[in-house]
Amino acid sequence: SHTRATISTKSTDRHGHAILATKPQYLKSKPPVTPDFGPNADVPSVVKGVIDDIRANGDAAVRKYSRKFDGWEPAAFKLSKQDIEDIIAKVPDQIIKDIKEVQGNVRAFAQAQKDSLKDFELEIQPGVHLGQKNIPIRNVGCYIPGGRYPLLASAHRTILTAKVAGVPNVVACTPPIAGEIPHSTVAAMHLAGADQIFLLGGVQAVAAMAIGTESIDVCDFVAGPGNAFVAEAKKQLFGEIGIDLLAGPTEVLIVADEHADPFMVATDLLSQAEHGPDTHAVLITNSEEVGKKTMEAIDRLLPILPTRELAGTSWKNFGEVIVVKDLDEAYELADEYASEHVQILTENPREALEKMNNYGAIFLGANTCVSYGDKCIGTNHVLPTRKAAKYTGGLWVGKYMKTVTYQEVTDPEASGKLGRLCGRSARAENFEGHARSGDLRAYNHLKDQFEW
Ligand code: NAD
Repeated sequence: SHTRATISTKSTDRHGHAILATKPQYLKSKPPVTPDFGPNADVPSVVKGVIDDIRANGDAAVRKYSRKFDGWEPAAFKLSKQDIEDIIAKVPDQIIKDIKEVQGNVRAFAQAQKDSLKDFELEIQPGVHLGQKNIPIRNVGCYIPGGRYPLLASAHRTILTAKVAGVPNVVACTPPIAGEIPHSTVAAMHLAGADQIFLLGGVQAVAAMAIGTESIDVCDFVAGPGNAFVAEAKKQLFGEIGIDLLAGPTEVLIVADEHADPFMVATDLLSQAEHGPDTHAVLITNSEEVGKKTMEAIDRLLPILPTRELAGTSWKNFGEVIVVKDLDEAYELADEYASEHVQILTENPREALEKMNNYGAIFLGANTCVSYGDKCIGTNHVLPTRKAAKYTGGLWVGKYMKTVTYQEVTDPEASGKLGRLCGRSARAENFEGHARSGDLRAYNHLKDQFEW
């Protein structure tokens, strides 16, 4: 699959606009492979079946699917205070210290985001007051993935961010890993401020939080990343609950020029490829040499990576190396991909901030890497996938808040004027009932001016 191939590719976007002046050259292209989820390959129908069953049978169905998908059926899925203390006691001190340091970074950035959300009031005309308030959602469910890896970093990004937003009740779920309790994840969930912690994964966790069962509080909103099943469950439940965004299997796209170090490019592509068999890792470069050398470096680095099985599978199925004419074309093509993570390894990385529009998070320059974002730097790592970066950014405090408005007319004359405007506007739409509410205010104002 590593032989050089020039593959004719689309040079127009879905609206038919030309997206590139020249034809990109695919050194390694993406074969049409669908990720193999084993016997339950039809993700949407599996997810629908689980949701319907939990809706009808509550905890009994939750238990059934936890047993089926995770081989996990403890006496209670909810951890008691004592359970949490016992679990945290098993986590090495250095990990606890590191969790606290990373949470310090996440909290500081989330707090700055919260401070940027302003409530305000405007007197749009004398006596007419319009206001905006940001109100935290009351009950939030946070999903912290953990099928393959204990993703404790997702606990900071989901739970802590909700707490900084001011959410009073955060219910949090994470699955066991191969039948074992993920101690450090539970520590991170607790330190992030989770009000209730359940050891429960996948669709059964998302559905239980969205629908509510005998033992799990119904939530108004479910946030958090996860695999294709988790993302599909959020999609199917959206409307009944709010969701943050569809944050599915991870993606990385690197834009590199001739100054980039192919060893670093390869290391960074593989760092994301290890997430799962369905990770997309893409290099777009204006240097054919960097493209070829990166592929050679990957061939050398993969065999010595302990997670080579996952990383190798996703690289084989979803890895791409694309050579374009210049960096402007690289940015254009990268925008079309709208990748979750974009890393810029070029001489002038900040240029990408001006030139690119579609990404979940962008990492500028060789001293920064996507792994910093994933693990420790402090920005949120719950980010849009599958081109959702064309219409949304990642998780942030604002997603946990509702921006609502209020209005008050304190001046009867202003109300009388609005009443007449309302009457005419409503009658233009044949809304007689609306018109009479306006008429009443207009009449009240007039009435006050005369003896009747
Ligand atoms: P996960 O917690 O998302 O999923 C594990 C659960 O999947 C299990 O508990 C099980 O119930 C369910 N499951 C697995 N196979 C199933 C099957 N055949 N049928 C029904 N249910 C099944 O953990 P994971 O699988 O390790 O995946 C984590 C994912 O999260 C990765 O894809 C990673 O890329 C992604 N991620 C995304 C972001 C983002 O912001 N986009 C951030 C972090 C992680």
